[in-house]
Amino acid sequence: MTSKPGPEATHASVSHPAGAKAQAQGAGEWPVVVVGAGLAGLTVALHLASQGQRVEVLAKRNLGEGATAWAQGGIVGVLGSDDSVESHVRDTQDAGAGLVDEQTARFIAENSAQAVSWLVEQGVPFSPDPEGPLGLHLTREGGHAVRRIAHAADATGKAIHEALLAKAHAHPLVTLRERWMAVDLITSRHVGQPEDGPRCYGVYALDIAAQRVETLPARAVVLATGGVGKVYRYTSNPETATGDGIAMAWRAGCRVANMEFIQFHPTCLYHPCLLYTSRCV
Ligand SMILES: Cc1cc2nc3c(=O)[nH]c(=O)nc-3n(C[C@H](O)[C@H](O)[C@H](O)COP(=O)(O)OP(=O)(O)OC[C@H]3O[C@@H](n4cnc5c(N)ncnc54)[C@H](O)[C@@H]3O)c2cc1C
Repeated sequence: MTSKPGPEATHASVSHPAGAKAQAQGAGEWPVVVVGAGLAGLTVALHLASQGQRVEVLAKRNLGEGATAWAQGGIVGVLGSDDSVESHVRDTQDAGAGLVDEQTARFIAENSAQAVSWLVEQGVPFSPDPEGPLGLHLTREGGHAVRRIAHAADATGKAIHEALLAKAHAHPLVTLRERWMAVDLITSRHVGQPEDGPRCYGVYALDIAAQRVETLPARAVVLATGGVGKVYRYTSNPETATGDGIAMAWRAGCRVANMEFIQFHPTCLYHPCLLYTSRCV
């Protein structure tokens, strides 16, 4: 909680929460704050900006750091004439050993082609195939019955992240704040108005360069802080994967579910001299 700053914020100053409440009364003027500058955060930011909304995107380390730029293999879409939503849902359920939420798997499969098309429109340089759907080369990975993985050689995440970051940099309604670490959501409790019910007024964020915790009022806050792989000492996940958004949501009273699902992909084999990685099948 910002009122009890954690170790990194101990010596930083904290703006007074009442300011957030007063400022939030004119919430229409405030931006949407998106916490996280990976694929999830940048996608939300660009969609909101395209609807005329002002957006501030925070990244707690450099903008390039996060899981997105590390993804290699590719991104799934129901694109080919030999593919179908039913086939994708079936493969997902089989790979998920009966633990898959069918509604979610179906939603993702139904919207996957549109999502890949959107990435193509943003200028992601996927590997081409003039004969392929949308002009894309599709590969087939473990668990998939057909070729349905769009990729940019073997550095798909880097290609996606660079393209979306370039779009976000160029968009006049998007502000990117690098090395700004959100430390807590500002809720009714912080502004002394618990009777307002569960409302979020913005975020407290540590400006790492200035070593100050600032109040960022927002008309809405999007938590897109990635995974929690760093709960393990040895992991192929990036340093940023510490579950900050999940912790902030939990402290604000949100329900948190399925925490036992930790990203294990890709698998790793450690040797003192070498690190082998391969994707799971
Ligand atoms: C090695 C590797 C290979 C992978 N390969 C594939 C693949 O081939 N295909 C596939 O589909 N998926 C793959 N994945 C998974 C995929 O990369 C992730 O699911 C996806 O990128 C997650 O995107 P995200 O935006 O949710 O998170 P991230 O890209 O991790 O972004 C999180 C963002 O949140 C920011 N952040 C975190 N905490 C805070 C805070 N407190 N304040 C401010 N900012 C904060 C970070 O700085 C970062 O900008 C792979 C993952 C890894 C690690």
